[in-house]
Amino acid sequence: METVFSGVQPSESPLHLGNYLGAIKNWIELQEKYRCIFCVADLHALTVPKDPQKFPEKIKDMAKIYLAAGIKAEKSIIFIQSSVKEHAELCWILNTIAKIPELERMTQFKEKAERHKKDLNVGLFDYPVLMAADILLYKTQLVPVGEDQIQHVELTRTLAERFNKKFGETFIIPKALVKKEGARIMGLDDPTKKMSKSATSPLNYIALTDSPETIREKIKKAMTDSGKEIKFDPPSKPAISNLLEIYSLCSGQMIGALEKKYAGAESYAEFKNDLAETIISFLSPFQEKFQALDKDDKYVINLLNEGASKAQTIASQTMAEVKTKIGLI
Ligand code: ATP
Ligand code: MG
Repeated sequence: METVFSGVQPSESPLHLGNYLGAIKNWIELQEKYRCIFCVADLHALTVPKDPQKFPEKIKDMAKIYLAAGIKAEKSIIFIQSSVKEHAELCWILNTIAKIPELERMTQFKEKAERHKKDLNVGLFDYPVLMAADILLYKTQLVPVGEDQIQHVELTRTLAERFNKKFGETFIIPKALVKKEGARIMGLDDPTKKMSKSATSPLNYIALTDSPETIREKIKKAMTDSGKEIKFDPPSKPAISNLLEIYSLCSGQMIGALEKKYAGAESYAEFKNDLAETIISFLSPFQEKFQALDKDDKYVINLLNEGASKAQTIASQTMAEVKTKIGLI
């Protein structure tokens, strides 16, 4: 059985529709066919400042989000990255074969470095190598991610190939699995940039946990394009195209059908109104499950511990093999 691995960082801000439509939604389907391993990437999250008082809740919330979205603990391994020490260990080994210019080229690093100029830590620079370690530890074949992470999976392939060439066949060369639809949901306040948890304004995203009132408010304030035509054409209508894509993914209706439905509309009002209600109904089953799990910390912690122990069994085997290959005793 082929292995699938992915993860999301427990950032300060909650998960958004982009994370869900671009990544997690696809994980649910993959569970039926593959050995799936999903981690709460808390070590990655440390690359930007975190409040130690709030961080434990964020970590647990992320696991609850996975479960509420439909990841099943009977089928998939769910665990917290930092509870399997091999992630940091393999990251260090891979650091010794990764090249500085390779990491300097990473788009995410360049963007985040710009935002965290005053506190540019080495972790932010090394983020893609830790991600490579995450993936390679489990001999992963497929990595379901949004478009922004393709570059990091490419680097993972480069590092795996380099290691194999230098020390002998060890790692499987993984592939990014990116669905065309939803792979790059744009910010509601700026359709030229991807929707992002670390955006400065909450008006950038719809959080999975946003209340109906907040969703209505955010969609009302979402940027639109000049003119009033509701047409999917990202180069000339980036904002409306993004809203149409979200509408289509949340309602299951084709974009063409939506264009027809709103052809000749006098303004964006009705379209936005319907879109908000569509998102609210789309998120409602998820939110109900999330609220139920919220009361059950003990269940979630148990499940994460079991997941960590299963993950560790695989990771420690890979690490033992890596150590032998490179001559550590
Ligand atoms: P941050 O801004 O803190 O990096 P993020 O929103 O980019 O947060 P991540 O935890 O880095 O979220 O990414 C989790 C997953 O969500 C990844 O697979 C990523 O490719 C996907 N993803 C992130 N943003 C989007 C988006 N706007 N559209 C589609 N997929 C996305
Ligand atoms: Mg990101």
